[in-house]
Amino acid sequence: PNTAVDTAVRAPLPVLGRDVTVPLVTGGEVSYAALDYAASAPALQRVWDDIAAYAPYYGSVHRGAGYLSQLSTDLFENSRDTVADFLGCRDGDQVVFTRSTTDSLNLLAAALPAGCQVFVFETEHHASLLPWREARVTYLNAPRTPAEAVDTLERALADRDPYGPALVCVTGASNVTGEIWPVRELAAAAHAHGARIVLDAAQLAPHHPVSVAELDVDWIAFSGHKLYAPFGSGVLAGRADWLQDAEPYLAGGGASRTVARRADGGVDVDWHTTAARHEAGSPNVIGVYAIAAACKALTEAGFDSLVAREQSLVAAVRAGLAEVPEVKVLSLFGDDAPRVGVISFVVEGWNSSHFAAALSAEYGIGVRDGLFCAHPLVRTLLGSDPQDPGECGAPDAEPDAQGKSLNAIRVSFGAGTPDEHVERFVRA
Ligand code: PMP
Repeated sequence: PNTAVDTAVRAPLPVLGRDVTVPLVTGGEVSYAALDYAASAPALQRVWDDIAAYAPYYGSVHRGAGYLSQLSTDLFENSRDTVADFLGCRDGDQVVFTRSTTDSLNLLAAALPAGCQVFVFETEHHASLLPWREARVTYLNAPRTPAEAVDTLERALADRDPYGPALVCVTGASNVTGEIWPVRELAAAAHAHGARIVLDAAQLAPHHPVSVAELDVDWIAFSGHKLYAPFGSGVLAGRADWLQDAEPYLAGGGASRTVARRADGGVDVDWHTTAARHEAGSPNVIGVYAIAAACKALTEAGFDSLVAREQSLVAAVRAGLAEVPEVKVLSLFGDDAPRVGVISFVVEGWNSSHFAAALSAEYGIGVRDGLFCAHPLVRTLLGSDPQDPGECGAPDAEPDAQGKSLNAIRVSFGAGTPDEHVERFVRA
C-alpha cells in the first residue's frame, strides 16, 4: 500500500467548529456532527487562518491611495486569478464576484440578449429554475437517465427558433440526490444547436474538479459558503460578451468609468467593460479573499484524495441505509449514477421533520428536512402531485393516508467530515 496516498485519502481536511458539543435529550453531550454540507459547509481551518492573517489589514478596494487600499486591491484582483485557475477558465473569460450562486444566475438572467430562449429542467434548484422568468422559458421534464437528459435537451433545442439566442441552464450535481449530470454532453448538445450553457456548480465544485474549458460550458456559478468559505460571496465566471453588452446589474460607483453632465441636463455614463461592470459598490473583499483561499486549499489537498475519501463515506451511508427496509433513497438516475456526498431519503411511516429533529436531539447530528428548494424535483421523486402546492413540504407535513412521506431528509458531507460522524448517522 502507498502510505502517503492512504494517509491523504483517510485524513479529513481540518475544518473550523469541529469541537462544538451539543446536549442530548437522552442526557450527556456529544460532539456536533455537521451533516448538512449541501446547505453550508464548515469553513476549512486553512481558510480561517488566511482570513485571520489578512483581516486586520483590510482596506477599500479600487478606491484608496493608501498602502492598505493597495494591498486589498491586489489581494482582490489576485483572488480573481486564483478563481479563474481553479475553474479552468479560458483566455478572455471574466470572473465576476457576486453574493452567491443565486445572485450569479440572476445576474446572468439580467444580461440575456433580447429574445433569448431559456431551457431548464424542472429538476433544478430554485436558484437555477426561477431567475429566467422574464425570458421565454421551456421547462423540460425530469429525465430518468443521463442519456435521456441529453435526448430531451436535443429534442427541445431542435424545435427552437434557430436564429435567436438561447441559453441552457443545468446543475452539475443535484442538491437533492447528489447525482452528477452529464454536463459535457449537455454542453455539446447546446452548442450543436447554437445555444449557450451555464453550469450551476454550487454542489459540484466543492466535491469534484471542474473545468470550464474541458466541460466547454459558457458560464459557471458557485457559492463560497458551500465551498468551505464563509458566507457572503459567490462567482459567475465565463464568456465576456453577453455580460459586457448588458446593462450593469447594479448601477453605481465602481461599475462606471466616467460620468458627465450632458448639455440637455441629463448624465452620460461610460460603463466599465471588465468584470467591474457588474460589481458596483464596495465589494466584499474578505468574502472574495476567503473564496480564493478555499480554492487554493482544495487544489493543494488535491481532488483525487478528496474524492476518494468522500466516495468511501458515500458508500458507507448508502450501505447503512440499505440495511433499513423502511428507508427509500431518492434517486433520478438509479444506483449506479456517479454522485457527490449528498443523499436524500424518506423513512416509511415517518414524518421527515420529526426524524431530522430526532437525529439532532438524540444523536447531535445536523441534517436537513423538507423539499430542499427543489420542489418540483422532490415531489416527482416522492411520487406526490407535482402540481399541488398544498401541504407538501410544510415543516410538519405528516405522511399521507398511505403512509407516503410528503417531504424528505437529506444528509450531506465532504472535506473535513470525520468517519465518526458518518458512523454515528448510520447507527442512528
Ligand atoms: N444551486 C444549487 C444546486 C444549490 O444547492 C444551491 C444552494 N442550496 C443554490 C444553487 C443556491 O445557492 P445560494 O443559496 O448560495 O445562492
